[in-house]
Amino acid sequence: MAKYPAELADAFRKVVEGEVRFDTYSKILYSTDASVWQIEPIGAVIPKHAGDVVETVKLAARHRVPVLPRGGATSLSGQTVGEAIHIDFAKYMNQILEINEEEHWVRVQPGVVQDQLSRYLKPYGFQFGPATSSASRATLGGMIGNNSAGSHSILWGKTMDHVLELKVVLADGSEAWFRPVENGMLESLSKGDGLEARLYRDSLALGAK
Ligand SMILES: Cc1cc2nc3c(=O)[nH]c(=O)nc-3n(C[C@H](O)[C@H](O)[C@H](O)COP(=O)(O)OP(=O)(O)OC[C@H]3O[C@@H](n4cnc5c(N)ncnc54)[C@H](O)[C@@H]3O)c2cc1C
Repeated sequence: MAKYPAELADAFRKVVEGEVRFDTYSKILYSTDASVWQIEPIGAVIPKHAGDVVETVKLAARHRVPVLPRGGATSLSGQTVGEAIHIDFAKYMNQILEINEEEHWVRVQPGVVQDQLSRYLKPYGFQFGPATSSASRATLGGMIGNNSAGSHSILWGKTMDHVLELKVVLADGSEAWFRPVENGMLESLSKGDGLEARLYRDSLALGAK
């Protein structure tokens, strides 16, 4: 018996505006990254916007199917290889959305490539510190996933030193903003039944140990 229902691809097509690929050719393409590993995925979703990501994760959670986000797939240890629904952020979700010159920050979609960001920032006299050797392919989403570093990191820090806040989709498809939390706010954030509140509760419990 097949492990996942045959109608899974159509279920994703009903809720996603982007591409849904379950054909053999695509599965072979998504079965590798820059590592030596090769595992056939269940399929791939190429979201056009955050709403597609939410719907993909919600549907996957309902069917208890794993998901695997993917940027440039330049990871060397098989991070983007696995039997899962791959969510490919590089093709469409690659826009630089906003820059604040005064406060020195930029808001980007996860599929923005590091060199693309560097070219955009150059006229402003800014750059994103951690210069990976794979900057022509590495995406900001993947850099955050790996906490990537580079030749200048000893001076300018790793990726985690430059992330101010993140809008994320949690495992149940709910959305959350993660940003520094001020003293006293953790208590109120940890109240409630949602997954986000549970994460804050678990963080508090870990901190207490
Ligand atoms: C030739 C070469 C040189 C390299 N040099 C360096 C280097 O100098 N420094 C360095 O740190 N690394 C280096 N790497 C490793 C790799 O290129 C970097 O870690 C890179 O930043 C990964 O980016 P990516 O977009 O390819 O991420 P991916 O490989 O696509 O993903 C990396 C991780 O992030 C997760 N992820 C991706 N997008 C998202 C998202 N939107 N939401 C949630 N999770 C997400 C993935 O699931 C995976 O776990 C190198 C690799 C190669 C092949």
